[in-house]
Amino acid sequence: MLEPLVEAVISAIPNAVVIFSPNGTVLASNSKALELFGFDSLEDKSVDDLARTCTQEDGTPISSSTFVSPLANEPRKFMIHSKKTGKWILVCASPVGSQSVQLGKNNVGAITVYSEKTEIIKNLGKLNRELQQKTKYQLDVQDHLLEAIKIRDDFISMASHELKTPITSMKFQVEIVKRKHQSGQLTRPQLDKLFSTWGEQLERLNSLIDGMLDVAALSEGQVKSEACEMDLGEAIRSQVDRFYTEQISFIEKKEVTGFWDVRKIDQIVSNLLSNAIKYGHQKPIEVTLSHEGIWAIIEVTDHGEGIDPENFEKIFRRFERVQSGISVGGIGLGLYIVKQVVENNGGSISVKSKKGEGSTFTVKIPLHYENHSVN
Ligand code: ADP
Repeated sequence: MLEPLVEAVISAIPNAVVIFSPNGTVLASNSKALELFGFDSLEDKSVDDLARTCTQEDGTPISSSTFVSPLANEPRKFMIHSKKTGKWILVCASPVGSQSVQLGKNNVGAITVYSEKTEIIKNLGKLNRELQQKTKYQLDVQDHLLEAIKIRDDFISMASHELKTPITSMKFQVEIVKRKHQSGQLTRPQLDKLFSTWGEQLERLNSLIDGMLDVAALSEGQVKSEACEMDLGEAIRSQVDRFYTEQISFIEKKEVTGFWDVRKIDQIVSNLLSNAIKYGHQKPIEVTLSHEGIWAIIEVTDHGEGIDPENFEKIFRRFERVQSGISVGGIGLGLYIVKQVVENNGGSISVKSKKGEGSTFTVKIPLHYENHSVN
């Protein structure tokens, strides 16, 4: 029989309480302890019986001495998990130590107080999920950064290659010309040919550098449009003429006038045309101009390399190139610039293509676009 006072006190405590003898026998417990550990009664039970129904926080078995160590000097707090009730329990074990404390005729070894920690666990679970989300986000950011670094490195190597090739060849030609000139061997036709090759190479270098500057300006939002009324057909024709080739034919289905910045139109047309030439297998290229309602429509069609539909989106991204059978110079900026310029002017660009049969790029831009400055 318990002393009535002790019984009244442990029943009044809102936590579960178990009192052990020095050898680990249960001397007293309250109803909350039975509920927490899932026992009908703890009478005649020992600390081993209780320990067997529980695990430590990490799921490993719990020894009776860990559970309650009557010989320990300091009170201890630790978490356990009841296999019977599935509850997480915070244990506060207070050894009585060397003092002699009696409960009835028995010596007391330890007084243990338990509280259920569902709230803590719930919060821990929430914190854990938040932590996992943050970690995932950070890993995603890290992946993006690594991808961006790779794109930058690829770009640097592509750009250096593209810039170096014409420079190396011009350097080589200059050496030969110098020697021939010194020995009086240079003829007029040879000189003319050299000037035209150098002109082309300088033009290529110039457009590469222009492309890089355009991209830098686009990403810094420094592009301003100076729109004025213009004849779109005339602007396209002047770009077609710049390429000095019979390969391109221009069909103006309707005369189209509108408000645009002529430099932007040049950028769009010259990039699409230089791609049609690069990837067009020397076959005819058709440029058409028409308008439908408020839209001017420019189409550039070639009958060359073609593009796999799975790459339709990719080719408009910055520095993206598609490895093709033919080896063609480029740094993957042309279509990115065209798309940005077209969209910044209220328009859209799309592509239809079949691998090996050629491609048609269609640009739709409004005849009048209110927002002339682009940020
Ligand atoms: P670049 O020509 O410098 O590679 P672009 O941005 O102009 O860069 O084009 C991106 C990619 O799209 C090219 O590398 C090429 O694979 C593909 N592409 C562009 N235009 C054509 C075309 N007319 N025919 C086939 N492929 C094309």
